[in-house]
Amino acid sequence: MERTFIAIKPDGVQRGLISEIIERFERKGFKLVAIKLVVPSKAFAQKHYYDLKDRPFFNGLCNFLSSGPVLAMVWEGEGVITYGRKLIGATDPQKSEPGTIRGDLAIVVGRNIIHGSDGPETAKNEINLWFKPDELT
Ligand code: ATP
Ligand code: MG
Repeated sequence: MERTFIAIKPDGVQRGLISEIIERFERKGFKLVAIKLVVPSKAFAQKHYYDLKDRPFFNGLCNFLSSGPVLAMVWEGEGVITYGRKLIGATDPQKSEPGTIRGDLAIVVGRNIIHGSDGPETAKNEINLWFKPDELT
């Protein structure tokens, strides 16, 4: 069954949005198959966002991701990669539709509270980066 990697970033955890976000994925019908709270090192954040290494905001982004606890999760279900991104909304919360997580709960792109894998290959890589095989149910 299809799986994706979803992470609540330090701003989402700090703002107390964990239950709100998990509820949206659960109510849709997706299944939580792994979950843990971790403070990633900066080197780990750089690995996670490696594809963005040439972007001007890369350093700030990696500092931010490693600034506090991140709730790392794997969700499973038909179409979960694409539909998970729909639940999350556009990257820039100013452009996210109301009804989406970022649309309802965030204002600026640098503090957009949640990450979701953008395709099957990234989902596989990110799940393997964040979780060991025996942590997956
Ligand atoms: P994510 O990968 O976190 O799910 P995304 O796939 O919607 O987000 P990406 O293009 O992969 O968007 O960007 C990764 C993250 O980098 C964004 O979520 C955002 O936090 C940050 N980011 C993207 N563009 C900018 C920008 N112009 N300025 C500052 N931060 C940005
Ligand atoms: Mg992305």
